[in-house]
Amino acid sequence: MRKIIAGNWKMNGKLENLLEIKKISNEFARSKIEIIICPPFTLLSAASELAKNVYIGAQNLHPENEGAFTGEISANMLVDLGITHSIIGHSERRNKHNETNEIVARKVKISLEKKLQTIICIGETELQRKENSTLEILEQQLLDSLANNTNFEKLIVAYEPIWAIGTGLIPEVSEISKIHDFIRVRLVELYGSNASNIPLLYGGSVNGSNAPEIFNVNNVNGALVGGASLSFEKFAPIIRAIENTSP
Ligand code: PEP
Repeated sequence: MRKIIAGNWKMNGKLENLLEIKKISNEFARSKIEIIICPPFTLLSAASELAKNVYIGAQNLHPENEGAFTGEISANMLVDLGITHSIIGHSERRNKHNETNEIVARKVKISLEKKLQTIICIGETELQRKENSTLEILEQQLLDSLANNTNFEKLIVAYEPIWAIGTGLIPEVSEISKIHDFIRVRLVELYGSNASNIPLLYGGSVNGSNAPEIFNVNNVNGALVGGASLSFEKFAPIIRAIENTSP
């Protein structure tokens, strides 16, 4: 199974921050880990020119290839730049930009069609967790967000409990384990045995201290990292932690 560490810079980063990508590239030049950094659109071109052994991904894309969509960026344009990965359906896009599962499904479809490695995010709110409906919510998000897609060769699923994003809170390791096992089983039941190769990432307040125990969980194949991906000093220990887990 691939091991993946993806960094989501969100709306952070200026030209000077490209240095962090350079440092990660230099430090992990021979790493076997699939390291992905998703800076804002403004840095994609420069980042992909300087990154070596680090993939550069987009945080979003439009579900159409081209046309009268002011301010939007298409999968075609990303591929043209040499971008290899995308993040689709992050909870901030779902909640702050009104992205429904239907929109997410259209984005996933075009992203996969354009052969981008596509990280689809799913996760429950604090209230849904308290109501014990996490598994139900995740299953519905998977079903609806992947609707009309049949080829999952380039799909990556990120489980990101919304209450854990940027809060410093993480679920108990046993909870992460139970949920990742559930996602794996449902993916295989829904989409067949090939789904056993879909990497499953955990996301939400991952840092250098909690990463080792998270990466030891069965069916956790990596992490999607927000805040701690912005600097070499915080991101590098997370990559080292997964390098140190057994194959
Ligand atoms: C995220 O936004 O996907 C995320 C996991 O953020 P953080 O690591 O800062 O919680």
